[in-house]
Amino acid sequence: MEDCIFCKIVSGEIPSNKIHESDHVYAFMDISPISKGHCLFIPKVHAEKMHEVADETLSEILIMIKQVINAGVFENYNVLQNNGIIAHQEVKHAHWHLIPKEHSDEGLKLEWKPNKEIEQTRIADKIRANLLFEFE
Ligand code: AMP
Ligand code: ZN
Repeated sequence: MEDCIFCKIVSGEIPSNKIHESDHVYAFMDISPISKGHCLFIPKVHAEKMHEVADETLSEILIMIKQVINAGVFENYNVLQNNGIIAHQEVKHAHWHLIPKEHSDEGLKLEWKPNKEIEQTRIADKIRANLLFEFE
């Protein structure tokens, strides 16, 4: 897609510190890392959000993340995938962050606030009713 920074990285128009590429996936180091080894995995075909990425590509992404974790010998890490502006997605080309965490004071920090007031029953019913699932 024109004017997409990650599409330009895939095409080579913008340089990147590439780790690996497969038929559908491109992996490279994050330019503003929050920990040592912070890297990104993207589909080669432009898609803004995760649910718009082809199934085969999604599988390939997770497998490549696993291989990079093994290659980097990362024992502690977060895999982060943001979708939409209010969910902290800045680059509008779907991407997966692999954020190793060697020390507790680096890498991803989460504010996790469980809320007992949240009502889950109706949304669970809606999901079950609408679910199109290939796997049984
Ligand atoms: P997000 O907030 O999930 O959209 O994260 C976007 C990520 O892309 C950030 O961690 C940026 O540092 C990273 N990023 C943006 N431009 C580049 C680039 N040209 N090369 C590598 N990483 C980039
Ligand atoms: Zn793109």
